[in-house]
Amino acid sequence: MNPNRVVIIGLDGVPLSMLKDLTQSGIMPHTRQIIEDGFLTSMFSSIPEVSSVAWSSIITGSNPGEHGIFGFIDMVPGSYKTRFPNFNDLKVAPFWRQSQGKSVVINVPSTYPVKEMNGVHISGFVSVYLNKSVQPKFLIPELERRGYRLDINFEKARQGLELFVEDLDETLTARIKAGKYLWDYIDWQSFMFVFTGTDRLMHFLFDAYEDKDHKYHDNFLNHFSRIDQAIGEIHSKLTENDTFIMLSDHGFERLEKDVYVNRLLASEGFLALKPNPEAKSLNIDSGTKAFALDPARIYINQKGKYPAGSVEAEDRDACLKELESLFGSLQIEGRKVIKHIYRKEDIYTGPYIEDAADMVLVAEKGFNLKGSMTAEELTGKGQVTGKHNYDEAFLLIKNGDIVAGFENGQPSVVDAGKLIRALVTKI
Ligand SMILES: [Zn+2]
Repeated sequence: MNPNRVVIIGLDGVPLSMLKDLTQSGIMPHTRQIIEDGFLTSMFSSIPEVSSVAWSSIITGSNPGEHGIFGFIDMVPGSYKTRFPNFNDLKVAPFWRQSQGKSVVINVPSTYPVKEMNGVHISGFVSVYLNKSVQPKFLIPELERRGYRLDINFEKARQGLELFVEDLDETLTARIKAGKYLWDYIDWQSFMFVFTGTDRLMHFLFDAYEDKDHKYHDNFLNHFSRIDQAIGEIHSKLTENDTFIMLSDHGFERLEKDVYVNRLLASEGFLALKPNPEAKSLNIDSGTKAFALDPARIYINQKGKYPAGSVEAEDRDACLKELESLFGSLQIEGRKVIKHIYRKEDIYTGPYIEDAADMVLVAEKGFNLKGSMTAEELTGKGQVTGKHNYDEAFLLIKNGDIVAGFENGQPSVVDAGKLIRALVTKI
C-alpha cells in the first residue's frame, strides 16, 4: 500500500448550509465526525456555476480560459452552430495525469470519453456508451456484474417522482459497489468518487428537503444517509497519512422563477430571431447585438466573428455597458434579479479566453437564469424546484498541514483543484 494517498469525494451540488444541517441533525453522522476533525469552508463555484465547468476546474486546478470548458453547450467558432464539448475539449491535463502512482476516478462529470491513464477511469455525466466510459475496458464485465449504470434512467424519471427516486437509489447502490470493488482491486495513490444523485435529487425535490410533510422528504434524507454510510466506510479505511477531501462543485437553493435572458434581450431590441430555427444552430437574425447561451452567458454579435455580426469591434465596450445597465436594473416583482455581472476579462485568464462569452451573469437568490431561445415570456416556472448557486459550494479537508492559504477568504473550485494537484504530485 502507498504510504500517502489522496481521497477525494464529490457531492455534486451540495451547499454548505445543507451539509451543516444534515450533519447536525443526525442524517450524516460519519460526515459530522470528519467535520469535527477537519477544516470546513464555503467555496465559490466556477462562473457559470454548472457542473461541467466546475468539475473541469477542480480536476485541472485551472480556470475556463485555460481548460477551455465554458458550459454544457458551446459555439462552433465563426458560426451560430452549437455543440456539446466533452473530455476531448479539456485543454489542461487532469490531476491523475500528473500522479506517479495509480488513480481511480469514478463518475466525475464531463470526463467522457475516457482516455488511457494509469489506473481506472469511469466517466460521469454525460456518458453515452459504456465502452467509451470505462478504462481499462476489461473491467466492463466486472462493473456490469455489479449492476453499474452510467446514469439514472431519465426516461423513467420523466414518468414520475416515484420511479425517479427508486432509480436514483438503484444507481447509487451500483456505484457504491463499483467503488468498493475498485478500492480493493487497485493499489491506488489517488481515489476520486463523485456522487451525482445529490444534484438530480435537489433539482427535482428541493421542496421535499425543506418541507417535512412532503411525500418524498424521507426519501431525500435517506439518499444522503446512504451516501454518509459509504463515506463512513471509506473514512474508516484511511490511515493518518492519507489526505481526505470532500467537496461540492456548486451550491443549491430553492428555485422560485425561471428567467429567460434571451426573451429580455429580444424585448429590449438586442436580439432578433429568425422565424425558422435550424437544428443545432441559433436562429440569430441580422440586427442582433447580443444573445445568450445557457445559463446566462452573453455573446456580443460582433462583426467578423459571426455570420450576421452587427457590432463593430470598437463598439463592443459601449454595447457591454448598455447590457450592464439593462441587467443591473432588471427587477421582477420588485426584486433585483442579477447579483453579479462579469465581463470575461474580469473572470478568465488564459489562451482560450477568445472562446468565452463576453459577459456572464450570476443571479440573485431564487432566480434561475436560462438561455432558451423559444421562451415566449420573460419568466416561467417548470417542474424543477431547485437550482444551482455560485457562492455556497463547500470544501472539507482532513489533514491539518495542507489548509495553509485557505484560512484567508473563501476559496474557489480552482483553488481546490490546485490543492488536489499539489497533493497528488507531492506523493
Ligand atoms: Zn445540476
